Amino acid sequence: MFTLLVTGGAGFIGSNLVRRALSDPDTRVITLDLLTYAGSLENLEGVLQHPRHRFVRGDVCDAALVSSILRTHRPDAVLHLAAESHVDRSIDDASRFVRTNVDGTRVMLEAARRYLKDGLAPAGFRYVQVSTDEVYGSLGAEGRFREDSPFAPNSPYAASKAAADLLVRAWHQTYALPTVTTHCCNNFGPYQFPEKLVPVVVLNALEGRALPVYGDGRQVREWMHVDDHCAALLLLAREGVPGRSYNIGSGEERTNLSLVTSLCDHLQGLAPKHGYAPPPDGYRALIRHVTDRPGHDRRYAVDCARILGETPWRPTRALEGALHDTVAWFLDHQGWWEDARDAAHTRLGLAA
Ligand code: NAD
Repeated sequence: MFTLLVTGGAGFIGSNLVRRALSDPDTRVITLDLLTYAGSLENLEGVLQHPRHRFVRGDVCDAALVSSILRTHRPDAVLHLAAESHVDRSIDDASRFVRTNVDGTRVMLEAARRYLKDGLAPAGFRYVQVSTDEVYGSLGAEGRFREDSPFAPNSPYAASKAAADLLVRAWHQTYALPTVTTHCCNNFGPYQFPEKLVPVVVLNALEGRALPVYGDGRQVREWMHVDDHCAALLLLAREGVPGRSYNIGSGEERTNLSLVTSLCDHLQGLAPKHGYAPPPDGYRALIRHVTDRPGHDRRYAVDCARILGETPWRPTRALEGALHDTVAWFLDHQGWWEDARDAAHTRLGLAA
């Protein structure tokens, strides 16, 4: 049996990861999550009581708790996802980002180091740091970030993730901790908290509200369905080369405006089947340009030659089909998002 400790497993990516991991009959999962505003046990519906799953509510900054989980459950790998993850919130107040993302990572690394040093970790143990492409900063129209591109984070969120990644590097260099770091592009899919772009657009559109597009909307992002990200993480937890970092991308680059337009078009077809009447001039007519995010990065794109060359992982979900399925998921899961819908129309991060 392969045992995984997943931190942040009640959040968006974490819950998709836990579900996917448990679909392998030889995998056992321990989830550690504080259940902040972004985490919910509802995200783990269907797997919370799974016989190979154990949920622990707790803080990654709690060193005694993290150590006791490692010693009790003896995981083969740690997948560290727990984080404060919303850029706009980090602009308003970075303190939780530094505490959870930076100090929480230090606590996780130190607990993993002692677990290994005390001879408790199984052979082949890996610590996987789930980071983001945002640590590299912003690109012009050309080029892609490689794993050896310098870090140049521009938001407090990205800076906290980059700081954590540097700690991971140091724990590998100094203590030979077998670490693997991942830098994935923007994710979307089921259970994404309604403050992020895709659910913001879908939920506001269903209420006939304005669809906010920051600035001119020509910021370019690479978009990946969360399933493809999770597949890469599960593979790297077993096969990632210690000390390495891996970019994870889809090659699907779109401007924010074009992504929002696509979502409107999927809604136009899907919403009536779920009892929602589109607005008289169609969903696209709800798009409104609003004040840009301060320090908004212009373009992110990652060069994935390493993961494509060294592993069998490939992205499998074409963007339009995956957006269609995600819109359909939100339409089918109104009960899931109803209580959190206010997050979809609360503008944060104007640094006013
Ligand atoms: P999320 O905000 O949906 O989930 C974060 C989870 O972490 C929540 O369940 C929350 O309760 C938990 N958490 C927060 N603080 C905690 C603490 N102190 N102790 C324990 N648990 C805590 O985030 P997400 O979008 O699922 O992102 C997960 C990870 O993936 C993050 O590390 C993020 O930086 C990274 N990432 C996200 C994306 C993306 O597009 N969403 C892309 C690349 C990387």
